[in-house]
Amino acid sequence: MITIKNKKNGPGLKSAVEEISGVDISVCFQCKKCSSGCPVAKLTKSRPSEIMRQLHLGAGNELLENDLVWMCASCETCSARCPMGIDVAAVIDALRRLALERGASKQKGNVSLFNRAFLKTVETFGRSYEIGMITAYKIGTMKLMNDTEKFPAMLKKGKIALLPPRGGDRKTVKRIFRKFKESKGAQA
Ligand code: SF4
Ligand code: SF4
Repeated sequence: MITIKNKKNGPGLKSAVEEISGVDISVCFQCKKCSSGCPVAKLTKSRPSEIMRQLHLGAGNELLENDLVWMCASCETCSARCPMGIDVAAVIDALRRLALERGASKQKGNVSLFNRAFLKTVETFGRSYEIGMITAYKIGTMKLMNDTEKFPAMLKKGKIALLPPRGGDRKTVKRIFRKFKESKGAQA
């Protein structure tokens, strides 16, 4: 059952999410196809279709603390499965952005740190660079040797590259990041 616990916390997130994601929340008819394909839904308290329903019913900032917002792997399966063409992944992404902007992020673990490490390597190298991302993440967590047992095998099999990626259009990617930061500054 969907319950809206706390509406005093804000006027509702629906319009802010719609503006950021470009999604019309009201066209969702709760078929739940998004949830049945979501690879993390079994691990989270809420499923993507429940997030859609809560937004529709006027949920406020309390939704920004939902664990799916931070456990979503951005795989876009939900968006691909939706018969109404709703970009559900973009909705979750918008909630993640609002959580950071409104300081409502209470995600468990180091998901936000991981996000920042990933984005920083994309900004710097124009593409994702696993070693750079892992290094930044591990320095942030101060757990340098955690989960490193498979690293030598991955390196040996060429699953992970030591050197940063070549090619790609670094200048364009940097410009996109700069424009985004400027637009955030303009909104502030
Ligand atoms: S994008 Fe996120 S919410 Fe959608 S199916 Fe993937 S993990 Fe689930
Ligand atoms: S698949 Fe689309 S229409 Fe169905 S519940 Fe999910 S968002 Fe709503």
